[in-house]
Amino acid sequence: MTTVAPLQNFGENVTIRPTAYYEPKDEAEVVEILNRHRGEQIRAVGRLHSWSTAPGGEGVVLSLKHLQDVTLHQRDGTEWATIAAGCQVKTILQKLKEQGKTLPSLGLITEQTIAGAISTGTHGSGRNSLSHYVRAVRVARYDPASGIAMIETIESGTALQAARCSLGCLGIILSVDMQVRYTYAVEEHFREYDSVEPVLQAEAEYPLQQFYLSPWRWKFLVQHRREVSKRRSRLAWLYRIHWFLSVDLGLHLLILTTLRLRRSNRVIRFLFRRVIPHTVPRNLKVTDDSSKMLIMEHELFRHMEMELFVPRDQLPAALEYVQQVLIVAGSATSDIPDLNLDAPSVERLTALRGLYGHHYPICVRRVCVDDTLISMSSGGEQDWYAISLISYAKPRDRQGFLQAMDFLATTMKRKFGARPHWGKYCPLSAEELIELYPRFGAFREICEMRDPTGVFRNNWIRTLIPPT
Ligand SMILES: Cc1cc2nc3c(=O)[nH]c(=O)nc-3n(C[C@H](O)[C@H](O)[C@H](O)COP(=O)(O)OP(=O)(O)OC[C@H]3O[C@@H](n4cnc5c(N)ncnc54)[C@H](O)[C@@H]3O)c2cc1C
Repeated sequence: MTTVAPLQNFGENVTIRPTAYYEPKDEAEVVEILNRHRGEQIRAVGRLHSWSTAPGGEGVVLSLKHLQDVTLHQRDGTEWATIAAGCQVKTILQKLKEQGKTLPSLGLITEQTIAGAISTGTHGSGRNSLSHYVRAVRVARYDPASGIAMIETIESGTALQAARCSLGCLGIILSVDMQVRYTYAVEEHFREYDSVEPVLQAEAEYPLQQFYLSPWRWKFLVQHRREVSKRRSRLAWLYRIHWFLSVDLGLHLLILTTLRLRRSNRVIRFLFRRVIPHTVPRNLKVTDDSSKMLIMEHELFRHMEMELFVPRDQLPAALEYVQQVLIVAGSATSDIPDLNLDAPSVERLTALRGLYGHHYPICVRRVCVDDTLISMSSGGEQDWYAISLISYAKPRDRQGFLQAMDFLATTMKRKFGARPHWGKYCPLSAEELIELYPRFGAFREICEMRDPTGVFRNNWIRTLIPPT
């Protein structure tokens, strides 16, 4: 056990105060810790890159950062890797690349651990979330009959669907078996569109694309992407340097500096309308390795994010709604548009006027339907679209952002069935969240069967699945 100091997440919006904190060296030590703390609340953290209160809890906390092995397997023409829980995505990519392999899907960053990433349904664009590709999960938990710690490998049926995205409720994940594939190249180029319909049509040609609704310009900047069997572009290295300097550093420093100005709202609008769109090279096609193309250094500057998932047929209306709400929030004198809301919601919207100036591109990513019980893109007949809303305000200045996000999350849940990302700001109540997942009952049953007293649930998760 190391000293029990508070742990803080990336966004500095969640502090965890464990009663005991461990960094076990191997699986046997995890089992030993579980036996030592029988009956106490016990949970794991990854790299604390979630903004929700999913990581850790109020009792014993474990970090599996020393569990780092990655082993490749091959049987009956399929390949998969057994990845130890504490391994970060960037390390996995590096180890797989040495053998010509990569992960089937990637988020925007690679800092997360594999256990943390699958536990909240981490996703990228144009494929399923990482959870979908999980073949087996090895967990340490208690035997409900004897109360003694044991290890279980969950590899089939509804239990596997639950374990693929489980918010840490099924026990301490020790390793994950994940599908892998050959490394591949991605070609990308940017184009701007006035409306969302042609952007969605372009998916047939560019299945991996993601796009940004530019605030205050209200146009769609699309990162058209597709897998290609081409070589890396000769000047791909230069493109990477340009991207790093102009977007990863430049755009973020510009936004951060502007937010410190007295008339920041005006300047932000000017920048998004007149300056930022012209810094992106249009129609320049570049090809590079997927593990370079699909990610960015989004973790360089502290920020906070909420992400809402809507089904494809709801996307155009949902984006129009987000735009209208952000316009209202952006000015104390804005008119209140008719958004077909009930009277209390109109009152809440009116109260938002002038409270929050949105200042970051609204990223939209397509996520295919997952074979899981509760990842955000689970279930349904249509692809899901994740709409991301980010604030770079300092933690003490986030009140306006949070109020606007609370309004968007509650009203978009009712209007569009929007599901908040489990690992991002998640302001809905337990009842609202449960309503969004038709298979939540099956998930609860699996959790109750394996952990009837709820020792692997923190206070937030206990509102979703109360201990029996
Ligand atoms: C800058 C930034 C960019 C991001 N980009 C994306 C993105 O592109 N797409 C996306 O979907 N998400 C994204 N996220 C969110 C992030 O992927 C998720 O929140 C992810 O869960 C974080 O992983 P982590 O290792 O930090 O886990 P933590 O945040 O520490 O934990 C997440 C969950 O996993 C559980 N957990 C962790 N380890 C174990 C274990 N060994 N056993 C059991 N449970 C465990 C925790 O209890 C918790 O419930 C981003 C976050 C940041 C900060």
